[in-house]
Amino acid sequence: MNATSECPCKSGQLFDLCCKPFLDRTTYPPSPEQLMRSRYSAYQQSDYQYIYDTYAKEQQKAISVKEISKSSAGSSWLNLIIINTFETDKVEFKAIYKEAKQFFMLHENSTFLKEDGFWRYRDGIIFEDSGLLKPGRNDNCPCGSGKKFKKCCGR
Ligand SMILES: [Zn+2]
Ligand SMILES: [Zn+2]
Repeated sequence: MNATSECPCKSGQLFDLCCKPFLDRTTYPPSPEQLMRSRYSAYQQSDYQYIYDTYAKEQQKAISVKEISKSSAGSSWLNLIIINTFETDKVEFKAIYKEAKQFFMLHENSTFLKEDGFWRYRDGIIFEDSGLLKPGRNDNCPCGSGKKFKKCCGR
């Protein structure tokens, strides 16, 4: 991905002006939503060090960059939809990814906390509609292109 393309987090902004400065560590996400978006972009870019670094300290004890990388291998991240950010420390979102030629949705309400002045990911509640998606040929493509599945990723 080059810097002048659209940000993976689907904000509609350029990568350069959206999540890239966070992944480059030149600045830090000012809100849980920005942190959530930047973590999504980091997954999409396979930047697992960033994923690790933005976990809350308590969570970092139980995971490693290697483990994150292992559990993410083979997934390609296609779409992110922010559902709500009503509570100041929570972000509900749907993320769509592809694995072994199948489509999946992660629908989660994430909780964030501020440590040493930086927002970090604590944990999340996963909704029951998460899991395998079975788009019909005439459904809208889960990747969010706006095209029919049969004319996009389902070809
Ligand atoms: Zn972004
Ligand atoms: Zn598609």
